[in-house]
This record gives sequence, structure tokens and C-alpha cells, in this order.
Amino acid sequence: TERALIARREKVLGPAYRLFYEKPLHLVRGEGVFLYDAAGDKYLDAYNNVASLGHCHPRVVEAITKQTAVLNTHTRYLHEGIVDYAEALTATFPEALSQAMFTCTGSEANDLAVRIARHVTGGTGIIATDLAYHGLTSAVAEFSPSLGESVTLGAHVRTIPAPDSYRQSPAEVMEKFGRDVSAAIADLRRHGIKPAMLITDTIFSSDGIFAGPKGFLKPAVDAIHAAGGLFVADEVQPGFGRTGEAMWGFERHGVAPDMVTIGKPMGNGYPMAGIVLRPEVIAEFGPRARYFNTFGGNPVAAAAGKAVLETIRIEGLQQNALEVGRYLMDGLRSLSHPEIGDVRGSGLFIGVEIVADPTAKTPDAALTTRIVNGLRERRVLISASGPNANILKIRPPLVFSRENADMLLDVMGDVLKTV
Ligand code: PMP
Repeated sequence: TERALIARREKVLGPAYRLFYEKPLHLVRGEGVFLYDAAGDKYLDAYNNVASLGHCHPRVVEAITKQTAVLNTHTRYLHEGIVDYAEALTATFPEALSQAMFTCTGSEANDLAVRIARHVTGGTGIIATDLAYHGLTSAVAEFSPSLGESVTLGAHVRTIPAPDSYRQSPAEVMEKFGRDVSAAIADLRRHGIKPAMLITDTIFSSDGIFAGPKGFLKPAVDAIHAAGGLFVADEVQPGFGRTGEAMWGFERHGVAPDMVTIGKPMGNGYPMAGIVLRPEVIAEFGPRARYFNTFGGNPVAAAAGKAVLETIRIEGLQQNALEVGRYLMDGLRSLSHPEIGDVRGSGLFIGVEIVADPTAKTPDAALTTRIVNGLRERRVLISASGPNANILKIRPPLVFSRENADMLLDVMGDVLKTV
């Protein structure tokens, strides 16, 4: 049946839609931190950072069900839900970030951010990191180098290396990132391009799960501001408490973004995303350009989003991410396997760098793949990323317990012995 389903899928969806794993998982149900396949097998989900509250969280299911039975419609009618939600959402940000705009995906949010940055600054130049993924619209793909050969970076785009806290000292990271941004600004100017924005993840994801030393973003943000550009913090992955230390990743750095793009766990699976921004930025943008989004911030999305925020607060999920994240990182370090070169991250956003030789720090992509597949065989789901595909990416739902962490650690220990 699996093979037949894959064949049907390929026939009707074409080859561009990739699946995780050589032997794809056929899922039929999710509950809490577990996913269930068609054969009834149960998998520990330590990867899926969309269902941050756990799969099919009852509070979100109820909010969606109730609202969808009453009203869901175009967002250009007056409706209280979007206002309620925007108030609750902006209340989780520092005071200066007090307005919100809603989209359906993170790509659209970043697309809107570029459009706004260009309107407001009159510039076109964009600075992003070497292996960033910010989304798939044509404008955003131009500064999402992790898409590889399938995209051509824009002539107005400059990329800089993400901070590598494994191969650089904290002092080097602190100094280098700001210097690289300044050099990119200078290069744009040399080519007659005015900088519009610097966009970065606040925990670098596709670049290799680097949380970096706190504060290293500050000189870079100061440099883009001094050049008349805006700073866009992409919180699509680290946002909504995942870092444990703060609700938003940028807060770890003491910087003030002009725009913050959000998505993924925002509706715990209900597709919703958006931008939270400084009112001065919208004031510049608003009169000249109009914005509406048929589905972005619709009544059901607003209800889902509100239930997510309430649940994070009621269940203390940010604190849980901090505690269980530390426990899990300590546990991964104490597996003390020579191939584990580095364990890093913040809260439940964890990277484990797999190396052939811990002294030379040589990436081992083949071993990483074997570990990911070995875990899958033992029903634990994670993934791999980074420039050399040798970094285990661990981002479980924020309801992950110590018991769940122990299960992951046990299986990881076994798999490391056998691969
Ligand atoms: N930014 C980051 C950091 C992401 O990880 C992603 C999705 N992987 C996006 C933006 C785009 O979000 P979406 O897939 O919802 O368009």
C-alpha cells in the first residue's frame, strides 16, 4: 500500500515535492509528542516544530472547531477576532513592536517584509546569511541560498557566513558577524545599491543551528541601521518560546528589530504567519501601498493563534523548553561519543554536530544520515541540516518531557553504538 500511495503521489504531484526519509512515513494520526503511522506504529516526534504545543492540542482543536462552525470569511469585513489576536500577540513583544500584519505562510511574511523595507528605505539591497532559508516566493527565494541551484540570488543580494560557534571562539563570533555585515553594506554601496534590510534567523537554522553567544547580532543591527536599512528578525523557527530563554529569539541579543516575521507554530498546524513591526514602519508603508490578504488573520486563524498563545502561558511551555532543553543538551553531551563534536542550541532548538574526527572537526554527512535513519527505525524522528548536512536537528514540541528526552537519549545511545 505504501508503494502504491507513493506512486499515486508522484503521478499527481510531480517530482518537486520531496518527502522525508528514503522509506517515507505514512502518517495517519498525531497526539501530543507522538505520531502514528498507517501500520499503527508510534513515533516520538523530535523534529516537527509546527505542532509546538503537541499534535492536535485539544485547546486549539476546540478553538478552531468552534470558530469554523460560526464564521470564517474574507478578512476585509470588520471582525473582532483579528483585533483580539493582534492585541494578544503584540503584548508578547517589547513595546516598540506594537502592530501586526497577517499572512498564511512564513514565505509570504518575508515577502511582505522585503516589500515594506524597500518602500520605507528607498533601497533595494538585502543582506542574508550564506545558507539561509527565508521562503519560496520569487522575491524571497532570491535571498534564500539554501534552495541551492534551483534559485539565482539577486544582484542586490549579499550573503555573509553565519556565525560558527563550533569553529570560532565566542569573541571571534562577536566581532566577525558585525564586521561581515559592514563589509556587505560597503560592497552594496560600491555597486550603487542602497541597503534596504538585513534579515537573519535569530537562531540560525539551515545555516547549522547556531545560537551563538548572546549579543553577537547587536553590532550587525547597529551597522544596518547606521546605513539607513532595516533589521528583519526571522522568528519563523525560534519564535513562540522555543529558545526557552525568551519568547522571541532576538530578545537574547538585546536588539530592536524593525520587523519580526513569524509563522510555523503560530497556529499549531493551522496555517498562519505574519509580521510584527514598529508602527513607524507601517506608517511609512501604509499610505503609499495597500495590503490585504484574503485568508491572513481570518477568524479561524485568529482563534487558533489565540489558543496557542494561551496554551504557551497556561502550560508554562517556554519554561519547559528551557528546562527540558538543558536536560536534553546535557544528556546528549554525556553520551560522550567521539563522533559528537558539538551540542549547541537554546531551549528545545538543538543541533548536534557529527564529525569524523573531533580534533580536526571534519563533518561526517554519511554517518549523520545513518543516525537519522537509525533513529527512524527505532521510531524517533529528527532531521539533519547545515552546510555539510552533518548536524542533527532536534526541535521537539515544547511539551516534551524529561521522560521523552530520556527516551530520545536511550535510543540515540543505542543507535550511536550500532551505526
Ligand atoms: N523562514 C524560516 C526560518 C523557515 O524555516 C521557513 C520554513 N522552513 C520559512 C521562513 C518559510 O515558511 P513557510 O514554509 O511557512 O513559507
